Amino acid sequence: MSYRFDTLAIHAGQANDEATGAVTVPIYQTSTFEQLEPGVSRGYDYSRTAHPTRRALEENLAALEGARFGLAFSSGMAAIHNVLSTLRVGDHVVTTQDLYGGAWRIFVKYFAKFGIDFTFVDTSDLAAVEKAIRPSTRLLWLETPSNPLLKVTDIAACAAIARRHGIRTVVDNTFATPVLQQPIALGADVVVHSTTKYINGHSDCLGGCVITNDELFYNELKFFQNAIGAVPGPQDCFLILRGIKTLSLRVERQCASARRIVDFLQERVSRLYYPGFGAIVSFEVEGDAVEFARSLELWTLAESLGSVKSLFCHPATMTHASMDPDVRKSVGIGDGLIRLSVGLEDVRDLIEDLEQALVGGRVACAR
Ligand SMILES: *Cc1c(COP(=O)(O)O)cnc(C)c1O
Repeated sequence: MSYRFDTLAIHAGQANDEATGAVTVPIYQTSTFEQLEPGVSRGYDYSRTAHPTRRALEENLAALEGARFGLAFSSGMAAIHNVLSTLRVGDHVVTTQDLYGGAWRIFVKYFAKFGIDFTFVDTSDLAAVEKAIRPSTRLLWLETPSNPLLKVTDIAACAAIARRHGIRTVVDNTFATPVLQQPIALGADVVVHSTTKYINGHSDCLGGCVITNDELFYNELKFFQNAIGAVPGPQDCFLILRGIKTLSLRVERQCASARRIVDFLQERVSRLYYPGFGAIVSFEVEGDAVEFARSLELWTLAESLGSVKSLFCHPATMTHASMDPDVRKSVGIGDGLIRLSVGLEDVRDLIEDLEQALVGGRVACAR
């Protein structure tokens, strides 16, 4: 029987415990497992290699993206590192221009050291994507909606181009979540998430995952997951599984609130970035962004997004501070840019706080 998204969120990988009947997957707080005889285990031997609470999370995450295989990591960056670890010297990656700052950093400041080449393009421009492909290109790495300018890339069209060139398409689906966008159904080969964000949703642990239908690639990724060892602990797996149970409820409400905030801001700011879906909204303040940030009372100034608590950030000094300043300018991340992550508070309180900060902070509202 094939179940729908909300049913899978509660059930996939989470059968009632065989030994005790527990209806929630237990936190198996153990690093190793008894072997019946040398080389004969009950399916688990060492927790870096495989672990039952992690296994439940991995099966669940795969199901959410409509795929067969999932792997969980200790952070979103560890998940990204895992995928890039399959590359070799001389390989080339085509990727989105206004990428998550940490992804930009690991590409340019870490993997480039090992002889891997990156070309950053506006992936919403299909001709630019095709033009950037070389004989050595192995991956097309997409982030959509992009961060922090929320530019939308056509995953299906990009994946079709990549397939024609024998290249795998990877989509960082952290912003959209599988509630709003399922890249594998659109033709992508691999999905990565920072589960720290919407999937966990409560700002209480870090996590990442890689999801695919490609069995050969999965086996290679799994080999590196064990070899490198950036795996999440059982408590974190439990918290992420717990978060997933309300993922679609949270995202639905957050999207509805974001729409109301967009309606409010539209009349009051000169530049607004909102792709028409999702619960992240960016905008330019005309005056002093730092002054505006100081004036907000209910919204929390913090890195990260996708939490039940509404957060906002100043990308130029926070999420994208590791990007070279001229690169940042050239991709349009100005000093006045503010990124909102809409949480689950009463949207009227969120709007009233924005209103007092826009007025009280003496931020000019030129249109
Ligand atoms: C946060 C984030 C990451 C990195 O994840 P961590 O869990 O912080 O390591 C990667 N991609 C995107 C789009 C993110 O927002």
